[in-house]
Amino acid sequence: MLKGKTAVVTGGTRGIGFAIVKKYLENGANVAIAGSRQETVEKALNQLPEYKDRIMGIWPNLSSPEEVADAFHSVKEKFGSLDILANNAGVSSRTSLYDFTIEEFRKIMDINVTGVFVCSQAAARIMKDQGGGVIINTSSMVSLYGQPSGCGYPISKFAVNGLTKSLARELAKDQIRVNAVAPGVTRTDMVSALPQEMVDRISAGIPLGRVGEPLDIANGFLYLASDLASYVTGVVLHVDGAAMT
Ligand code: NAD
Repeated sequence: MLKGKTAVVTGGTRGIGFAIVKKYLENGANVAIAGSRQETVEKALNQLPEYKDRIMGIWPNLSSPEEVADAFHSVKEKFGSLDILANNAGVSSRTSLYDFTIEEFRKIMDINVTGVFVCSQAAARIMKDQGGGVIINTSSMVSLYGQPSGCGYPISKFAVNGLTKSLARELAKDQIRVNAVAPGVTRTDMVSALPQEMVDRISAGIPLGRVGEPLDIANGFLYLASDLASYVTGVVLHVDGAAMT
């Protein structure tokens, strides 16, 4: 479904991002894994030896326009284009408002919002020159309902939805589609570390009766990146088993 395309996946070293990387590779794309550190990027690359000709690693500071632009140009140089950007890197929080420090608030905004803005700008500049592309952001179910603690996290995901809808309208004239996937509770490291009893309790509250797997979310990223979604832009696709927090 993505043969000949090139994708950058931020936060691609583990969890949902790593599932997107694998899904895009299986579907023929070249993929650049963007992580926070060279060491974790190399660890992820080493897990995909069968795709070594179609993968590379980058580790720019996602809130630095210069570092991100340089890294994205190196991807275009290696593979010839940059067609898909999955803005997936993110950090969450459960801190109470009473204990929330300004440093923690700024860190969340820096990665979850500024990072998405900076990466979208750098990719859109390349995509516009190429005649089009696709940007897909990782939102969250908390962007609908908020959450009862850690308010910086839902605030950042409401902003991701705002960026998604605004950039979809602004970039449509350049044939760049912009969408988001909003996962529900998904079995990444954090959920895997919970006792089974707690996972069962969470699952019981989800209409489809289970937590999401990274593959469920990656399938949404594949659909939105592919030509099957050629007339879809400005959408926040909820992949959450109809969960409501
Ligand atoms: P994770 O913690 O397993 O992975 C997060 C990824 O982001 C990692 O690869 C990490 O290296 C990267 N990252 C964090 N800070 C970074 C930085 N400063 N620079 C570059 N990369 C950085 O989490 P995950 O569950 O796979 O989360 C991926 C995305 O999905 C996030 O945006 C998260 O908000 C969202 N999400 C997750 C869930 C869930 O239940 N797991 C639910 C809804 C939304």
